[in-house]
Amino acid sequence: MKTGAQYEETLREMNFKLYMFGEEIKNTVDHPIIRPSLNATKLCYDMAFDPEYEDLMTAVSPLTGGKINRFTHLVASTEDLIKKVKMQRLMGQKTSCCYQRCGMLDACNAVYSITYEMDQAMGTEYHKRFKKFYTRVQAEDIYLQLGVTDPKGDRSLAQNKQADPDLYTHIVERRADGIIVRGAKCHMTGATNSNWLLVMPTSAVKPDARDYAIAFVTPSDAEGIVYVYGRQSCDTRKTEGPDSAIDCGNPTYGGQESLMVFDNLFVPWEYVLMDGETEWAGPMVERFATYHRQSYGGCKAGVGDCVIGAAALIAEYNGVANKSHIKDKLVEMTHLNEVLYQGGIAAGAEGYELPAGTYMVDMLLANCTKLNVTRFPYEICRMAEEIAGGVLVTLPSSKDLAHPVAGEWMKEMFQGVSGASAEDRIRCLRFLECMLYGTGSTGYRCESMHGAGSPQAQKIQITRYGNIDKKKDLVKRLAGIEN
Ligand SMILES: Cc1cc2nc3c(=O)[nH]c(=O)nc-3n(C[C@H](O)[C@H](O)[C@H](O)COP(=O)(O)OP(=O)(O)OC[C@H]3O[C@@H](n4cnc5c(N)ncnc54)[C@H](O)[C@@H]3O)c2cc1C
Repeated sequence: MKTGAQYEETLREMNFKLYMFGEEIKNTVDHPIIRPSLNATKLCYDMAFDPEYEDLMTAVSPLTGGKINRFTHLVASTEDLIKKVKMQRLMGQKTSCCYQRCGMLDACNAVYSITYEMDQAMGTEYHKRFKKFYTRVQAEDIYLQLGVTDPKGDRSLAQNKQADPDLYTHIVERRADGIIVRGAKCHMTGATNSNWLLVMPTSAVKPDARDYAIAFVTPSDAEGIVYVYGRQSCDTRKTEGPDSAIDCGNPTYGGQESLMVFDNLFVPWEYVLMDGETEWAGPMVERFATYHRQSYGGCKAGVGDCVIGAAALIAEYNGVANKSHIKDKLVEMTHLNEVLYQGGIAAGAEGYELPAGTYMVDMLLANCTKLNVTRFPYEICRMAEEIAGGVLVTLPSSKDLAHPVAGEWMKEMFQGVSGASAEDRIRCLRFLECMLYGTGSTGYRCESMHGAGSPQAQKIQITRYGNIDKKKDLVKRLAGIEN
């Protein structure tokens, strides 16, 4: 296993082609806007060395036989599926943002098992290739990020019917030594913190669009990959220096997204994991999405713990912690948050073994968990906002707090109950501001809505696995209906 420091060193050796605010960024490791996101992934490495969390953060690999970071583990039991969610909640609690590494965990489990089934059905050698590569991932504790979501252009048109063929990732040339790829993946979480990428289709692919049925791995800084960094609300507060750290709310940790473009990217055959097998594109993305929907029951519950904690703290600072409606709201928030967690745990407990020997989560429960995640955090935010009061969005800056005149007024006027300084209150409110209105994977809301697929995607799966016919039969039997 790598320590966080060793992982950081691997990033210093990488050479990303990255643009941000109209400039090319050469140093992705120390850039103040990127750094909090790197700190979050780095913690995923360091936590594996903390004896307190060893059971959750590490596992023994059936591939290497050695101890590995659980973020690279191929789930081998329902217990592993449950531990995955517990680890994710823990990481959400420790960072209060998207720590980015779980996408890899879910995508690699999907690709490992689907390529096995592909090889069995078609005599291909994708699984053999992936297993060899993945043994290296585990042995070297590589951070692999996943790319699924294509730009999609006109959503009513299929991949190969778009006016611009690059709106979906596709093969433009097959050569003796590999393939040439064009296209893009959007909303790429943690890409410039990663060492390698795993790319797969964003949706099912029809037989006439075989160039779009494509999966592969590639170094994240390969020639032909261009990144454009995603803007998050209040992101430039991170560039204002230590005096403005309070204004960042969660100054140490954060998430990152980017647009990732494939401009004639070359991928050698040994790294190609799907090449035109259209019938397997849907199953691959469905398996990934389902694992990932279970994961949201862990990470978002962990971040939810921090939101609830901040709401409770500000209530205390404001002297209303014992008021009945505040206590009731905290109970309600806790209830909603625990339901998310329950779903993730249950989807794991009801998991089942796949032909590859790894374990899959319960499809219905995982989708219900994620559908809840598209709703409950919004309720939790609403109640946190009510508890916090309007000062949540009207506070002056921390530079004013440090000013000899303005600061004195702020210290007097923003104090709370006796013992609650204005600065502590402001820190807590800024943290809550960052959670409630922070965007991308630094915040709590919109990622809950769209990450791992928008609500309609879950409803389609719930329709598929909900088995309404069986429910009708139950009633017919009980009510004595014969037809
Ligand atoms: C913070 C964050 C982090 C993310 N990280 C990653 C990542 O690391 N890697 C990655 O690959 N993806 C990532 N995603 C992408 C995520 O999976 C997508 O946002 C999600 O799948 C929705 O796709 P979209 O954003 O393109 O929305 P759209 O496809 O534009 O959907 C918008 C709305 O239109 C509806 N819609 C779209 N198409 C149709 C249609 N044909 N018929 C009917 N309705 C339709 C949808 O249901 C939705 O309501 C991330 C997203 C967020 C917000």
